[in-house]
Amino acid sequence: MRVPLTTRDFLERAELVYGDRIGIVDEPTQPAPSLGGLSYREVARRGRALQAALDELGIGVGERVAIVSHNAARLLEVLLAVPASGRVAVPINFRLSPEEVEYIVGHCGARVLLVDPELESSLGHVTAEHRFGTGEEYEQLLRFDVEPRPWAEPDEDATATINYTSGTTARPKGVQMTHRNLWINAVTFGMHMQVSDRDVYLHTLPMFHCNGWGLPYTMAGLGAQQIVLRKVDGAEILRRVEEHGVTVMAGAPAVWNAVLEAAADWDGEIPGRDRVRIIVAGAPPPSKTIARVEAELGWEFNQIYGLTETAPLLTINRPRAEYDDLEPEERAKRLSRAGVPALGTRMRTSESGEVLAQGNTVLAGYWENPDASAEALEGGWFHTGDGGTIDDGGYVTISDRKKDVIITGGENVSSIEVEDVVFSHPAVAEVAVIGVPDDKWGEMVTAIVVVAEGEQVTEADIVAHCRGKIAGYKIPKRVEFRDELARTATGKIQKFKLRESFWEGAERQVN
Ligand code: AMP
Repeated sequence: MRVPLTTRDFLERAELVYGDRIGIVDEPTQPAPSLGGLSYREVARRGRALQAALDELGIGVGERVAIVSHNAARLLEVLLAVPASGRVAVPINFRLSPEEVEYIVGHCGARVLLVDPELESSLGHVTAEHRFGTGEEYEQLLRFDVEPRPWAEPDEDATATINYTSGTTARPKGVQMTHRNLWINAVTFGMHMQVSDRDVYLHTLPMFHCNGWGLPYTMAGLGAQQIVLRKVDGAEILRRVEEHGVTVMAGAPAVWNAVLEAAADWDGEIPGRDRVRIIVAGAPPPSKTIARVEAELGWEFNQIYGLTETAPLLTINRPRAEYDDLEPEERAKRLSRAGVPALGTRMRTSESGEVLAQGNTVLAGYWENPDASAEALEGGWFHTGDGGTIDDGGYVTISDRKKDVIITGGENVSSIEVEDVVFSHPAVAEVAVIGVPDDKWGEMVTAIVVVAEGEQVTEADIVAHCRGKIAGYKIPKRVEFRDELARTATGKIQKFKLRESFWEGAERQVN
């Protein structure tokens, strides 16, 4: 028998097996009406009410429903219920500027746009055929009185979500995730992390980012409780771990640095000692962070490696039995590698040292971008754009980045996009944007500028010029001025030369 692997399965099982359990706990401060704690039965019932509402609006199978929201129970509902009806969910980064959001809504052709009330005023002019706020308006939209139309021909190869990600082009690309991609990621991830109905998951990751690494599906399908966290804050994370008995969290190294900082001022015993497992990715965590997480928090440190394009799970590094007796430093060193391929994934490096992957979590393609899709999947392998090595035991280590992308606080920034904006300042003759290592952000967006003849411009002028045009986290945190930029014989800026002085002494060229 062959039953299509669709994301319907996760909420359906949550309702059947764990219907009475509180499945999702929203923020108490959410705009009215607050959802407080929702049982999985209630989440499923609300999901059907959303599907029925979309039926009523005439949104068909395959059509896109976009949502811009901070982490919220309603965003989780959209991720669980919209693809389950055969429609496509497009969760958009809430930190983007209105113009960036507008581009994405237009590019994916969303007919419905859902907007977090907190973002209502800043996204004022962004429109779609139907736009609703995710507070009161969303509640009024829900149709509890009619059953939704079932998805007539469920197809595991149909697109479930489109996740826009900044890459090597000025505009973000829409990563098309199929139901099969999400299913395999969720199940494999759950298996490797041994998720069970005893787990309590705190959403320390933004849910829009690669659908919260697909973990909302894992947690729902296996009956784990999900606690919404709207804004990342180290002390608040510790408080939630204590209050809700959290056992699993995921996030970029910057999140764990914030927790470590907060732990130094924490009164009493750190909550979750010997209970919490954290999953880290987005950038290579320094061994020092790993050792501190284990020693100062007593939390289990796990690393994964992957991309939005791979759902994201490619490799995983869980502390193995063999590490139990190692000295902390040696143990941290082992855990600082990106990990070994997850079950069903194959990894190799190309001649130029680029990390390549094959597996069922690899994207179908980029939305309406056949050239980028062909390039990414050339030769039947997915090209990650990351440089790295694979040792005899199959452990992948990421050592540099081949693609022109900066990762700051776990979010991708396209250098080219920032260069375009800086260059649009009339006093800028030339610009190169690079990432430089930074303790807090991992990498810091830095612009190297050559001023046009006869012109004058300051760092503050450039920062002010960028404000409003691109998301705040993409704006250079530092601007340096040079007389000229190193170029190749063909006139191409040699970014690696510009980067050299900043990365001197570093073991690897990513942070
Ligand atoms: P995104 O698609 O925004 O999730 O970003 C994916 C990128 O994050 C990858 O291509 C890597 O450059 C980086 N990344 C993710 N996980 C790791 C990791 N464990 N170690 C090093 N870099 C990572």
